[in-house]
Amino acid sequence: MKYCSSRGLESGLSFRDVLFAGYAKDGGLYVPEEFPKLTLDELKSMAHTSYPGLVFEMARKFISEQEISSVQLKDLIDNNIKKFTTPEVVEIKQLNGELNIVELFHGPTLAFKDLALSVVGGLLNFYLKENQQNITILVGTSGDTGSSALMSVRGEEHTDIVVLLPHGRCTRTQELQMTTIIDDNVHIYRVEGNSDELDEPIKKCFHDESFVANHNLISINSINWGRVMVQIAHYFYSYFRLCGEVGEVVQLLVPTGAAGNITAGCIAQKMGLPITMVATVNTNDIVARTLSCGDFSVKGEVVKSLAPAMDIQNGQPSTPGDHANEKHVDEKR
Ligand SMILES: *Cc1c(COP(=O)(O)O)cnc(C)c1O
Repeated sequence: MKYCSSRGLESGLSFRDVLFAGYAKDGGLYVPEEFPKLTLDELKSMAHTSYPGLVFEMARKFISEQEISSVQLKDLIDNNIKKFTTPEVVEIKQLNGELNIVELFHGPTLAFKDLALSVVGGLLNFYLKENQQNITILVGTSGDTGSSALMSVRGEEHTDIVVLLPHGRCTRTQELQMTTIIDDNVHIYRVEGNSDELDEPIKKCFHDESFVANHNLISINSINWGRVMVQIAHYFYSYFRLCGEVGEVVQLLVPTGAAGNITAGCIAQKMGLPITMVATVNTNDIVARTLSCGDFSVKGEVVKSLAPAMDIQNGQPSTPGDHANEKHVDEKR
């Protein structure tokens, strides 16, 4: 599989290229050049596959064999998914009648982000080992992205991770999750100020091209294709567990912040999975306004809600390749 920019000015990139990149150079997002289409028979043959098995199936479709062999890919996925507390990873609970809850929080930091980041950590590490390279991941967070990214790369030889968290603005649990990880490659800074102020030094680092090159600085924000790719698997898994018969339509309601998760659902649908989706947002409704009437404008400040991971109000990258957008996407997490 090759990758291109959603704005069309770049093409022919490898999975590795896009895994280590942020925005495309033309300001677009990196996406596969095509979405593999599954027939009904293929869907049926996958219906009893385990969750880790489905992550493998999806990754295999989007990463060419020349890049990672099937044995290596399977090992890498299994080793990183081991950190989940339930063997099936995703649990589905029936509420009443036809209503079910898909539980995506059984990972090491209890955040949905663990599903994708645990595997992305493994993928990064695979290429780094292979090429004997080192990277520095720089994350600004006030919640679950920081903890989840840390857990996925702690102790890895070829990766350093630097996390800035705003003092007093994360939950106590999240702050402890981050500050109690004692590993040589983990560097946590609790900083004074709000997440806008916290973002300033991060922005400066990413804007300094020679600094980025010298430290192999990368950001694993929610636009990272590796994260989206892994998230496709839980749609297939949920579908197979919930459909009466393969081929029937299942409707999924998706709590949506910056829409990375539901983007994976839309890709699953394009691949032929018979699902419909409803994006649900809270009072910070830029995604709903964009989808329903094309209104991508910023409407005031982000309102703090009981679901901070969904508190997104500004999805707009300020400049192409501007990792500062990470703030808008991840700041309240
Ligand atoms: C990250 C997250 C979301 C939002 O996901 P997006 O991909 O940004 O739409 C919603 N709920 C929880 C619990 C999350 O961790």
